[in-house]
Amino acid sequence: MSISENIKEFKTGLPDGITLVAVTKTKPVSEIMEAYETGQRVFGENKIQEMEAKWRKMPEDVEWHMIGHVQRNKVKYMAEFVSVVHAVDSLKLLKEINKQAAKHQRVIHCMLQLKIASEETKFGMHEEDAKALLNSEELKALENIKVVGLMGMATFTDDEEQIRGEFQRLKNLYDSLKERYNFSELSMGMSGDYKIAIAEGSTMIRVGSAIFGARNYG
Ligand SMILES: *Cc1c(COP(=O)(O)O)cnc(C)c1O
Repeated sequence: MSISENIKEFKTGLPDGITLVAVTKTKPVSEIMEAYETGQRVFGENKIQEMEAKWRKMPEDVEWHMIGHVQRNKVKYMAEFVSVVHAVDSLKLLKEINKQAAKHQRVIHCMLQLKIASEETKFGMHEEDAKALLNSEELKALENIKVVGLMGMATFTDDEEQIRGEFQRLKNLYDSLKERYNFSELSMGMSGDYKIAIAEGSTMIRVGSAIFGARNYG
């Protein structure tokens, strides 16, 4: 199936209230434009400079999401245009995003990435550290960022019950914090596990290969 057919099929299958972030890392602008032409406006990248290069070439009404691990010294390259940063894992990083967003008089939405997978390689905060961050006085002083919710990546495994359990833990944490911190987004689910994520309460899925085909890292 073509990219536009995949997008259309995704859109019609998605329950109301769930945002599809089309993950375009490693894909050329020509292919991303095919998704754009079908009406898709929300795109995700995991490298800041690759996202910046695509932002310069794509129409202005694209909503760019940074879904990968962020290096503080590169925040300045995306502060002018990025809408949502999914994988925040420290107050230090939030402060830098706030500082750079202020330079452009913008408010950048951020999500805290929680470690839910059993693999050592997945980034993310532990629950207690996330709660401490959310309670800190320093966070309240940051006017150019808004923490809108949580993000997590499940273990890469065929064991559906393990994935489901990891998503459930994140959803429970999200529910326990939602009202107090005015959360509206729970970013969980990728090509291999988005159906489970939606069943477990995701509001935002990040889907790459199921739309654009396998990535070629050359
Ligand atoms: C690449 C990536 C995705 C999308 O992965 P697919 O399996 O291709 O859907 C989602 N989230 C993050 C953080 C990613 O880096």
